[in-house]
Amino acid sequence: MTVAKTGAEHIASLRDGRTVYIDGQLVPDVTTHPAFRNAVQSAGALYDFQAQPENIELMTFKPEGSNRRVNRAWQMPRSYDEMIQRRKALQAWANVHYGFMGRSPDHVASALVGQRMGIDVFRKHSPDRAKAFADYFDYAAKNDLFLTYVIINPQAERAKDWSQQADNLVARIVDEDSGGITIRGAKMLGTSSILANEVLVANLQPLKPGEEDLAFSCALPINTKGIRILSRKSYESSAVSIFDNPLSSRFDENDALIYFDDVKVPWDRLFVYRDTDVCRQQFHDTQGHSFQNYQAQIRLSVKIKFLLGLARRLTEAIGTTKIPSVSEKLGYMAAQASMVEAMLSGMEASGSKVGEYWVPNKHFMYSAQVLTQDLYPQFVNSIRDLSGGALIMLPSSIDDFKDPMLKKIIHTTQRAAAMEPEDKVKFLKACWDAVGSEFGSRHQQYEMFYAGARFVTAGHSFRTYDWNSATGAVDSLLSSYSLADELNGVTH
Ligand SMILES: Cc1cc2nc3c(=O)[nH]c(=O)nc-3n(C[C@H](O)[C@H](O)[C@H](O)COP(=O)(O)OP(=O)(O)OC[C@H]3O[C@@H](n4cnc5c(N)ncnc54)[C@H](O)[C@@H]3O)c2cc1C
Repeated sequence: MTVAKTGAEHIASLRDGRTVYIDGQLVPDVTTHPAFRNAVQSAGALYDFQAQPENIELMTFKPEGSNRRVNRAWQMPRSYDEMIQRRKALQAWANVHYGFMGRSPDHVASALVGQRMGIDVFRKHSPDRAKAFADYFDYAAKNDLFLTYVIINPQAERAKDWSQQADNLVARIVDEDSGGITIRGAKMLGTSSILANEVLVANLQPLKPGEEDLAFSCALPINTKGIRILSRKSYESSAVSIFDNPLSSRFDENDALIYFDDVKVPWDRLFVYRDTDVCRQQFHDTQGHSFQNYQAQIRLSVKIKFLLGLARRLTEAIGTTKIPSVSEKLGYMAAQASMVEAMLSGMEASGSKVGEYWVPNKHFMYSAQVLTQDLYPQFVNSIRDLSGGALIMLPSSIDDFKDPMLKKIIHTTQRAAAMEPEDKVKFLKACWDAVGSEFGSRHQQYEMFYAGARFVTAGHSFRTYDWNSATGAVDSLLSSYSLADELNGVTH
């Protein structure tokens, strides 16, 4: 057995009889299907990266009682230094996919790390549910599982409560016996579920008293009987050339509706049972929400830096770098990218000890979330603004290079001072894949919504800001003078 989990091991674990549908067909093997196989390889590459001898210390640690090392995403930092050590591992993984795999395995592992820190929330709910959660955490960590989660209900009719939606739409408890509960209905939007071993099912959206049938949380292997995964359109399957689509051909992590078709959940996999408030507490009264979104900001800082690199190279490709207004724009974008890094450092440095653990500054984390969900589309727009038609005036595919006459025209028309014509085409296609292709467009939607719509993230920011420190300064000014004093000639 290798020191840590490898890519081959992970890929083999996905040949488990899971029920995945795409284009009306049941997928016999996700590891070989043209819609998913390259993304599967990219997930495997993450484990190969951590298992390389030169990366083992950076990327992995040995959990207590384990004979194998696992990714540092499972580490519960007890100090600022341990948080930084853990972050370096997560950053190194994000570098492997340039930040384009939003639900790489460290995302849900981070959520569980934060939830495990708050095990008392589960204990107060029920000792049995707390034991189930703690045992599951140990099992998932020791086996370095790739988990995804579905914690959001399908949109359906937004003006109605979740329990008022059509029958069999929102996942709910429909039965129970001595073996466990049975759930039926859907959750969205299982990003990476096709690449993952198991799925955490929970409720991040608030539930009301009376909605107890919906109020559960559990974890299940993806191949559990009755779990049906309905993939969205695959961008990978139409990205047949790496040269034409270097990102979408490799990092299309996929998103999917998960339908629970009378799925049996054993009691030892059930963490919250018929309690609407504990569903919220699982994320917000533990460190779960903080750690999952802290991981997201680590990944985003890598992606924004990559996009900044694209912007700079773009101006080199079309020879505009030295135009003052262009370098000013690049300078502004560099400041935005540095702001993301600075917020990350800020949430770590101004973190605090909660119990035994070092946790990120919650308000700084929510601020980063609110600001970056606006910043991402702005950044993409800036790249489009810098490009003009360059991202469109491109050969249709690598096949154009196979015709000598067309190749000659391409070489004549794709000139650049700083790049050879083929390099320019190669770069511009990578740039379009990142910001303009269907894959790039999905990424914009992802960064705007993965952590909740604006009204939700801004609500977290509102709740967690230390308003007294702001209003206190205003009150201090107002208390330093008065109308009566001034009318009486008293000066301060
Ligand atoms: C690419 C992608 C991948 C995702 N992956 C996952 C995943 O892996 N797991 C998972 O659980 N979820 C995932 N999600 C779901 C994501 O968490 C939700 O999209 C997000 O929480 C927003 O919820 P919603 O889609 O229901 O939008 P809504 O909450 O319905 O908001 C949509 C818009 O409706 C309006 N609106 C709705 N309600 C209100 C209100 N009360 N007040 C004001 N305005 C309102 C706003 O304009 C808002 O922007 C993913 C989403 C995307 C786009």
